[in-house]
Amino acid sequence: MSSPRDLLNAVKAEIREIDPHEVAAHLGDYQILDVREPDEYEQGALPGAVHIPRGQLEFSVEGRVLDKHAPVAVYCAGGTRSAFAAKTLQDLGYTDVVSVIGGFNKWKDEGLLWESPQTLSADQRIRYQRHLLLPEVGEKGQLKLLGSKVLLLGAGGLGSPAAIYLAAAGVGTIGIIDMDVVDSSNLQRQILHTIDRVGMRKVESAKIALNALNPDVKVLTYDTRLGADNIMDIIDGYDVIVDGTDNFPTRYLVNDAALLKRIPVVHGSIFRFEGQVTVFQPFVGPCYRCMIPEPPPAELAPSCAEAGVLGVLPGIVGSLQAIETIKLLLELGDPLVGRLLTYDSLEESFRTFRVRRDPDCPACGDGAGEIVIAEYDDLCMPHPALA
Ligand SMILES: [Zn+2]
Repeated sequence: MSSPRDLLNAVKAEIREIDPHEVAAHLGDYQILDVREPDEYEQGALPGAVHIPRGQLEFSVEGRVLDKHAPVAVYCAGGTRSAFAAKTLQDLGYTDVVSVIGGFNKWKDEGLLWESPQTLSADQRIRYQRHLLLPEVGEKGQLKLLGSKVLLLGAGGLGSPAAIYLAAAGVGTIGIIDMDVVDSSNLQRQILHTIDRVGMRKVESAKIALNALNPDVKVLTYDTRLGADNIMDIIDGYDVIVDGTDNFPTRYLVNDAALLKRIPVVHGSIFRFEGQVTVFQPFVGPCYRCMIPEPPPAELAPSCAEAGVLGVLPGIVGSLQAIETIKLLLELGDPLVGRLLTYDSLEESFRTFRVRRDPDCPACGDGAGEIVIAEYDDLCMPHPALA
């Protein structure tokens, strides 16, 4: 019978070991393979390492390290598990395998370059388990969501469900702009807010709700009126804008600023029992001005406050906006670019209409001049750059 030491010596006699400095000097030449346990890997790893715990090596490696004749450098914490792993790889037909002497501990002690790999924590793995089960999302997609930034225009009827679902899904940074306070007449549909927060700034109330739901989410608040003077600064750096505003001048302002910054806008609107959703992908699909070249006269465009809105309706429309946002962030499926989805709650019907880019659009058309961001009046016409 052999002792573990005998086994190790026997294995080491059949593999090649390599000094960490030699790997470090030719890092790009090796496929680096980390065979430690997940909790060890999360503490730090060699740059660009593929991570397959030793216990899963035989069944996972062929899908992850494709070229059996390319140089592979295997490491663990101290050089023992990697020796056995190197022997296994050779048995599986890998022809150029080395085991790193002293493993990650020696690598670190020698002051060689390492990095903290981006991984989900154990808590996150549980929280996002239903996402991880979808191959279209998976750990990579979840990490992408956690690294994404979405700006919500308004913490009202549409912003509420959108914010809650985006936070629940793990969108890492959610910005919210709103300059109102919570009013008890909001609570019929604005599910971010509660009766004990009536009178509080809406952005504060929203932040409390989102932090309570998901501590992974960083909530940035803008307790201000969105205007020509601040919009370019506020939207800067966001991946997607969710527009839940209810007035035409702001929608045109958002449209023009988002075109300039090349940020997609997920647009939603509601009226009494009906809602609509579409996605404005700058210079790919139509913009808001292509779809609505000029605002209707004020008497034909009453706001929610004037016309009323059924309570659940913004929940449907805002949730559709959240779905479209996640699709854009993960490049999933067919977003509503160039399509307007309308919802009629009384008929309980959805319809989709084509919306085309207008070649003569003053904002995104071929001949459109440079747009200057400025406050819009009731006519909302673009301000061309002065020659
Ligand atoms: Zn346009």
